Amino acid sequence: MASELNLPKRVNMKCLFCGGETFEFEQKEEYAPEDIFKCATCGEENTHEGLLAVTKEDVLKTVSAEFENIIKKRLKKHFN
Ligand SMILES: [Zn+2]
Repeated sequence: MASELNLPKRVNMKCLFCGGETFEFEQKEEYAPEDIFKCATCGEENTHEGLLAVTKEDVLKTVSAEFENIIKKRLKKHFN
């Protein structure tokens, strides 16, 4: 079933305040949870931890929507 999944290859981080996807931040190898990413759109400061939480939620929503589509398609086939 995994091969039928159509998942985004890359997920953009989104600002917790305005949903913007452009940030000003220090380029590093790794980020600590408390590192600040300043939103270029609204100027609010997001922590890395906060951004990751939102991103994870987005991915989960996408994944469950995809699974639902697949199951619906299979059920349709099964009953027709
Ligand atoms: Zn913002």
